[in-house]
Amino acid sequence: MSATMTTRIPGIVSGLRQGFQQGVTRPETWRREQLRRLRTLLVDRGSEFERALFEDLGKSGTESQLTEIGFLVSEIDHVLAHLSKWMRPRRVGVPLAALPASAKIVPEPLGVALIIAPWNYPLMLALSPMIGALAAGNAVVVKPSELAPATSSLIARTVPDALDRRAVAVVEGGVEETTALLEVPFDHIFYTGSGRVGRVVARAAAEHLTPITLELGGKSPVYVDETVSLADAARRIAWGKYMNAGQTCVAPDYVLGKAEVLRQLRPLLADAIHELYGSASDRNPDYGRIVNDAQFERLTGYLADGEVVVGGRHDAATRFIEPTVLTGVDRESAVMRDEIFGPILPLVEVRDLDDALNFVTSRDKPLAAYVFSGDGAVRRRWERETSSGALNFDVPVLHLVAPELPFGGVGASGMGAYHGERSFTVFSHEKAVLSKPLMPETLAASIMPPYTPAKDGLV
Ligand code: NAD
Repeated sequence: MSATMTTRIPGIVSGLRQGFQQGVTRPETWRREQLRRLRTLLVDRGSEFERALFEDLGKSGTESQLTEIGFLVSEIDHVLAHLSKWMRPRRVGVPLAALPASAKIVPEPLGVALIIAPWNYPLMLALSPMIGALAAGNAVVVKPSELAPATSSLIARTVPDALDRRAVAVVEGGVEETTALLEVPFDHIFYTGSGRVGRVVARAAAEHLTPITLELGGKSPVYVDETVSLADAARRIAWGKYMNAGQTCVAPDYVLGKAEVLRQLRPLLADAIHELYGSASDRNPDYGRIVNDAQFERLTGYLADGEVVVGGRHDAATRFIEPTVLTGVDRESAVMRDEIFGPILPLVEVRDLDDALNFVTSRDKPLAAYVFSGDGAVRRRWERETSSGALNFDVPVLHLVAPELPFGGVGASGMGAYHGERSFTVFSHEKAVLSKPLMPETLAASIMPPYTPAKDGLV
């Protein structure tokens, strides 16, 4: 199967290129039609997508609707409401010396885009960039994650049928198929996943000078101080952390706080976990599972890096790991070096705010940072002195739902951003178009040779 798929890839991509070059994807009506059909698919077959997500990650139907299916539907609605405006050329000014002339920026599609998706939100992260690519008038190949096989297969079986096959293809597979895809020239590559594979993608893209967006991960810190209600903070941190069993790129990775704050926060986190998932999270349908055995092994290995003060139970057969809180972790231990990407939350003691800021700024720039503080001066210091893809005050994760906020990383957490209009611009070229009437001829007198002292400094 995979050998035939890898050999078919160049043909699939050249078919899409042909569709693009014939202008199939350009009309606004075509773009709207694709988005409407995708919306219908997501709504009409929502329960099938819910089942696939449950199979892959034990996700509850409600969580799948909130974070994947419904999220995509809202995104489509947002695009449909704004697409005409985004597609419109934008008039811009011309310097006085060049007048009379007019100038505008015309957004044009790039061509054929490749989207490579990870397994943790396997539907949303495959189709959300695709919405942008189609809205901007591109043909697109989507490569879902092989580690979420039920969702990958459902996407492959339904999306090309629902959309225009002349411009949309789904290629299933893992390393071998992705490697084959990366050998083919694309006009944009949009990759979501780990930094390790992000480097593989960047190297392959360089061969063809293909522009890339890298949506990567990293350790997103939380800082909590004594000026907030710790019970409220604990509930929100637990919600952001244990959603999808911690397998969220912007999940709080660890909590920094002074000793007294952490001492008080500990039982409050236990209460919050109990409030969200009850005393038997292994039997609670709202709580997810770890995606595969390798991730389960990696995660349970971290339990030895500190003292388990909440949770810690786990079961290899069902790949269940209880919502867990660790204390007493060494700052250099594996759990504090790797992105955790699972339901284990270390609490790390800091001396003061400076220590917390130094801790974060001396490491890779995170995808998100979360600060729980009612002190304006503390908030300002985080805003000014740290760099991260996003910075949220008093709530994790929520920046994702604001389509006008760019979603993306900085430094090791990625390059480029999307959501809302940015999903359109990521997959567009902003073409500069300038027009100057031949008469009156002002250039001869100003910027053309022969140069005379009077013309100096005009250009
Ligand atoms: P991954 O990098 O292992 O896999 C992602 C994709 O790359 C998959 O489609 C996979 O088939 C492909 N791939 C894997 N190995 C490859 C190789 N050697 N050559 C070519 N392609 C290859 O990532 P993952 O484990 O699926 O995802 C976890 C990471 O993704 C975490 O770091 C997480 O934070 C990050 N993430 C980021 C975002 C975001 O929006 N920024 C969202 C979700 C996940």
